[in-house]
Amino acid sequence: MGNEENPKQSDPFVVVLDAGHGGKDPGNLGNGYREKDIALNVVLKIGEELEKYPNIKVLYTRKTDVFVDLFERGKIANKAKADLFVSVHCNSHRSQAYGTETFVLGIHRNETNFEVAKKENAVIFMENDYESKYEGFNPNSPESAISIILGQEEYLDQSIMLASLIQENFTNKLHRNNRKVKQAGLIVLHQTVMPSVLVELGFLTNNAEGRYLNSTKGQNEMSDAITDAILKYKKAIDSNVEDLTLIGTHMEDDTEEDVLTVVNPDIEFKVQIAASSRDLITKPYNFKGLEGVTKTSENGLYKYYYGLTSDYNVIKTLEEEAKNKGYKTCFVVAFKKGEKIPLSEALKSTAN
Ligand SMILES: [Zn+2]
Repeated sequence: MGNEENPKQSDPFVVVLDAGHGGKDPGNLGNGYREKDIALNVVLKIGEELEKYPNIKVLYTRKTDVFVDLFERGKIANKAKADLFVSVHCNSHRSQAYGTETFVLGIHRNETNFEVAKKENAVIFMENDYESKYEGFNPNSPESAISIILGQEEYLDQSIMLASLIQENFTNKLHRNNRKVKQAGLIVLHQTVMPSVLVELGFLTNNAEGRYLNSTKGQNEMSDAITDAILKYKKAIDSNVEDLTLIGTHMEDDTEEDVLTVVNPDIEFKVQIAASSRDLITKPYNFKGLEGVTKTSENGLYKYYYGLTSDYNVIKTLEEEAKNKGYKTCFVVAFKKGEKIPLSEALKSTAN
């Protein structure tokens, strides 16, 4: 209440780990392997690693072979005010399809994504009273899947960032087939109010991949890759927060205008207006009429920028313009000879 001393400082980073299925719901049984067991093994290993960090708190939606409904999983994460929700699953298909994919909540782009959503959402039929809990949601209807995407949009950029880091590790470290970051209408992700992803480790129905995922080696490698991605994500979030704090400080500072009049041509500023897994054409009609938008691509994440100038005062004006056009959360980023640098560093060298 009134007298808390820097509560933010000591708040741990809370990760909720969600092993898919459990109890009466075995998940998919491709090649006789059990999705619920593999998901739980991988989740427990991730948790064991993350718990070694004193500033990270790990919570589980289940630690044993029990049935937990999707609604309850989200509730656990929300109640804990978690910073991250990571759900782990295994895929299945009638073909020998194989590879990893990580989902964020969003409009399914094609039939295949809807099929995954349908399978992973179907568990609600096993839950008591599902109709009132999920407000008439029907897992078999694509329209229903679209209706649930609202609400997670706020966390979409961060969810995509984590999903990209996970897929990058699977691909680069473990050489798994990359089926990429995808969007789908997954109920379990819809229940949460924080960045959330659902990882499909691979296909149990594929002979080689099923064997790998059912092995201790496979489970160790997959959990290490996910753990590493979560740590990278945390690091990225922590450094961004510092930058945002600095911007805030400068805006309240009356002397800002005087300090920042010197322009250093080595430093360039841009306004980051969006980050998305969607590769958009940088025409004004895609960006609320803003002209000259540029983009970069990193691990399947596209970042979109407005403006390019060495003058901080000019970029602040462009930022204001982008905000007025509706990019409420846009922010200024700095580059030195093409490399992204912390804004604080850029501001120091423009002030000199
Ligand atoms: Zn599943």
